[in-house]
Amino acid sequence: MNNLPDQPPLARPLAGVELGGTKCICTLATAPDTILDQRTIPTTRPEETLPAILAILREWDNQGGFSALGLASFGPVDINPVSPGYGHVLATPKPGWPDADIVGTLAGGFDVPARFDTDVNGAALAEMLWGSGRGLRDFAYVTVGTGVGVGLIVHGAPTRGIGHSEVGHIRVPRLAGDSFVSTCPYHPDCVEGLAAGPALAARLTGRSLADVGPDDPVWLPVIDALAGMAHALVCSTGPLRIAMGGGVLVGQPHLLPRINAALLESLNGYMVLPDSVPYIVKPELGGQAGPLGAIALAAIALKGALI
Ligand code: ADP
Ligand code: ZN
Repeated sequence: MNNLPDQPPLARPLAGVELGGTKCICTLATAPDTILDQRTIPTTRPEETLPAILAILREWDNQGGFSALGLASFGPVDINPVSPGYGHVLATPKPGWPDADIVGTLAGGFDVPARFDTDVNGAALAEMLWGSGRGLRDFAYVTVGTGVGVGLIVHGAPTRGIGHSEVGHIRVPRLAGDSFVSTCPYHPDCVEGLAAGPALAARLTGRSLADVGPDDPVWLPVIDALAGMAHALVCSTGPLRIAMGGGVLVGQPHLLPRINAALLESLNGYMVLPDSVPYIVKPELGGQAGPLGAIALAAIALKGALI
């Protein structure tokens, strides 16, 4: 893999924290393939989890320090630097986490540049620096797991506006005959509610995944919803490539080619996709996309820009 975008090699490493719904991964690295330390702690309540992360960062700070800090969090989060709630978690069903102050707690005590964004925006930037999005400035990273998260990069920067992208919650037309009750508590027809892991589990109505082959009809609405979301991405910001991973896609390798085919059918020749095929690819960084996303944010904090 390439070195970080900061030649010659860094005198001091970068620190990154990926805050996930079930676990947080703290990474100290000088390059994406030179991880000096990586520690995982469970995500419980913020009063417990954030001090545990801070203790790891302080330890690293006392052992030679780090030159920048990246914080990549599950959403929704306030990423507007001029908002009084900047760096805090917004509405989330996770007990105790609404309004938790991630940036103030974790970055406040260190005199280094820091950057805060969503876990999926971080992962998208990491894929653009070191993985499946290398050389591109318009790119999307999708994870289909406990939720559907979309990191959306336009001209080298994560989208901003009302907030970060929430493309996993766009509404998509239902496949004819699909009367499944969405698992999203907010939306009856959003992609996450129709196609994420919990929706898949509910669609299986007690059947085990081991008993469900690729030809099972349960996959059809899942493919349709994810292709519908990709159609919306193509027609809106037009990423030059989409990387799509997460537990559902990793566990079901037959889905990606079928989503690609369904996207082409859905676009119906109206938009011409880039020559490189497939258009929707597997993330190259695999399980390290999230942790390296936090390192990518640290690298960008240090350099001031992606490229
Ligand atoms: P998270 O989104 O919490 O980071 P993952 O990306 O690992 O976690 O996704 C977890 C989801 O993936 C769960 O909803 C789980 O049911 C689903 N999943 C795990 N293995 C498979 C599989 N073999 N086939 C389909 N879905 C799977
Ligand atoms: Zn929703």
